[in-house]
Amino acid sequence: MKAPVKAEPNCPYCGETMVHGQVTVHSTPLGNLLNFLQIRWYSQQHLWFKRSDTSKDEIVLESGDARLGHRCPRCGAVSLL
Ligand SMILES: [Zn+2]
Repeated sequence: MKAPVKAEPNCPYCGETMVHGQVTVHSTPLGNLLNFLQIRWYSQQHLWFKRSDTSKDEIVLESGDARLGHRCPRCGAVSLL
């Protein structure tokens, strides 16, 4: 039996219906070229979250990773699953 299809969530900030998609962290085309040429001054980047209560940095996504998520087309808010 298939799971019921869930409706897209509403944005918690502005109420607009959010769009389903994929969130990734990856380099720009220039970064890819520099990596291809083995110019190492370019470093991989991660998506970080700093907690407001402890100011501790946590990695949300490592470079090259991908997770499902939603983005609000009105205000730009993003949620990750
Ligand atoms: Zn919104």
